[in-house]
Amino acid sequence: MTGPDSEFELIRRYFGAPAAAAASAEGVRLGIGDDAALLGIPGGHELVVTVDTLVEGTHFFPDHPPASVGHKALASNLSDLAAMGADPLGAVLSLTLPRVDHGWLAGFSEGFLALAGEAGIPLVGGDTNRGPLAISVTVLGAVPAGQALRRDGARPGDRLVVSGALGGAAFGLTHETARRARGVAGDMPPADAGDPACERLFWPRARLALGRGLRNRARAAIDISDGLLADLGHLCAASGCGARIDWPAIPRDPLLAEVPDAQARDHALGGGEDYELLFALPAGESLDLLAFSVDVPLTVIGECTTGDEVVVEDTDGQRLDVARAGHDHFADTEKH
Ligand SMILES: [Mg+2]
Repeated sequence: MTGPDSEFELIRRYFGAPAAAAASAEGVRLGIGDDAALLGIPGGHELVVTVDTLVEGTHFFPDHPPASVGHKALASNLSDLAAMGADPLGAVLSLTLPRVDHGWLAGFSEGFLALAGEAGIPLVGGDTNRGPLAISVTVLGAVPAGQALRRDGARPGDRLVVSGALGGAAFGLTHETARRARGVAGDMPPADAGDPACERLFWPRARLALGRGLRNRARAAIDISDGLLADLGHLCAASGCGARIDWPAIPRDPLLAEVPDAQARDHALGGGEDYELLFALPAGESLDLLAFSVDVPLTVIGECTTGDEVVVEDTDGQRLDVARAGHDHFADTEKH
């Protein structure tokens, strides 16, 4: 692209304001504007790197509020930093746009940069291309050497704990999918960012402070992006253990009160994109002490067991037959 809609101009216009801030942010030696950014890594730390891509039609639709798309693109990455116990260092954004839509870009950058400011993560680089709308965000973080929260440290007897409440994003996805189905008949209302169901789906929060608080305390951690059972399965497989989950103990999103029990169970156990943290806490670590130091509710939902089976039990100790399928967004795609 050349002229006023050139890559440089677009980045400067919509993402340029934080460039100056980024240049002065701690650790950023050189931000947007050169061939690449230069970041200093604090002494005694390890670099944490993760990338996530949102594709139109799979993760969002053209009529979704662009600010929410910008927010979610960054939030899903920050959630991975939280799950590693990392502090944010910087973000890099790659935007593929079918055309230059200034209204969309203004909204997108507003949502992205608001969260970046809140989380204290400077945008240190960007790239634009022409093509089907897709957003790829890479985030860099730092964690004291040897203290990263990994998936492979859980041991039988550890308590399994989740933050916040589960199933709200899956409720939002169902709500949104139904709204779209009605839209085929020609009466689709505009997406509403003020709707609590949309809010759960499109405005997730990353648990960065909790992730930090879990260093040297949790034995293993993962963020719930694919659904509780799917992500618990990842953690158990990596740790070489099984798990017993107590269904009545699972903290459910208040929105699930609106749906039948079976659906609430599917949403809370199988729904993705809540971006809460699931972690294994060894017997010697006080949950009360941890809960006191973070700003999010923490709930023990079960424990790690020997073997490799993940079992969900109801009130009477009876096993529930639950699907282990992961979350599938708007389209039938696999997420990792
Ligand atoms: Mg993750």
